[in-house]
Amino acid sequence: MRSYAVQMFCQPVVEMDMAAPAPKGTEVVVEVTRCGVCHSDLHIQDGYYDLGGGKRLSLADRGVTPPVVMGHEVLGRLVAKGPDAPVSDDTMGKTFVVYPWLGCGTCEICQRGEENLCATPSSIGVHRAGGYAERCLVPHPRYLVDVTGIDPTLAATYACSGLTAFSALKKVQIAKDREWLLILGLGGVGLSGLEIAKALGYQKIAVADIDPAKRDLAAACGASLVVDPRDAGALAALQAKTGGIAAAIDFVGGRATAEFGIATLRKAGTYIIVGLFGGDVSMSLPLLVLRALTLRGSYVGNLGELRELIDLVKQGRVKPMPVETVPMAKVNSALDRLRAGHVNGRLVLARD
Ligand SMILES: [Zn+2]
Ligand SMILES: [Zn+2]
Repeated sequence: MRSYAVQMFCQPVVEMDMAAPAPKGTEVVVEVTRCGVCHSDLHIQDGYYDLGGGKRLSLADRGVTPPVVMGHEVLGRLVAKGPDAPVSDDTMGKTFVVYPWLGCGTCEICQRGEENLCATPSSIGVHRAGGYAERCLVPHPRYLVDVTGIDPTLAATYACSGLTAFSALKKVQIAKDREWLLILGLGGVGLSGLEIAKALGYQKIAVADIDPAKRDLAAACGASLVVDPRDAGALAALQAKTGGIAAAIDFVGGRATAEFGIATLRKAGTYIIVGLFGGDVSMSLPLLVLRALTLRGSYVGNLGELRELIDLVKQGRVKPMPVETVPMAKVNSALDRLRAGHVNGRLVLARD
């Protein structure tokens, strides 16, 4: 089958002919019709994360070795199943979004339903072959989430960008009608965050982005307050208008956004970092105590959260974000556009 793989880090993705997956045991196979293109694909293509201070986290050291068939926002038709896969005949041929953030399945954390936090991850499109291909192997049908009634291009994006935003928002505990939520960065995931936050009932949402087009988008999507964090007076203005941010979610995750986000918080505020732009910050430890801040990371989300999110979408409560399809054969141009930051919303590879 035709696949698109990273054969060497830092090089364009190449078209390869790979053996089509033959499901064994409980495994199932989906024929891929949509696969979202994610910022983390750029890091996989590069082969590292920037840890700041000149340090890098090598993906090869973490068991990610080429050829890597990327693509973790996989949507497709269920076309094959192993002999032990609990799948009824009428389920075959239906369209599902695939939960990609798999773990070992047996450890304490996996048993608790948080496979995305397993110490030995086995994520689709990262550690095992993903959706930049004609077909994708999934170890068990429980990872398939029914998306009947949802536009398939949009539905694909919920597996990462939607889920990541949803899971970060689930970690926020503030009074949704009175206290301020700040979204840092309105890329694909940040935009999902804004739409899902509205669906969850947040009424005071501020957005910070350095790009005027993204600030316009935030305002058009109903953000209550929009700022350019590079403006000298932005921090003071934000604090004056909000009385301090109760929770900030950083969808960029670079030094500038982290410093800005943490500075905006009121006492006992929470800063949640999601983005993997990279870098580091130094901070005053006594102020962390005196301001009683919570700083935490949030990595994608779990299967239960994906099901919850898809339910919310099916109820019509999450406004669709802009998505654009690109033929799968043009995967490199999609990756290049994302790298250049020239994308409003999400690019999704399509095979029909
Ligand atoms: Zn992703
Ligand atoms: Zn595990």
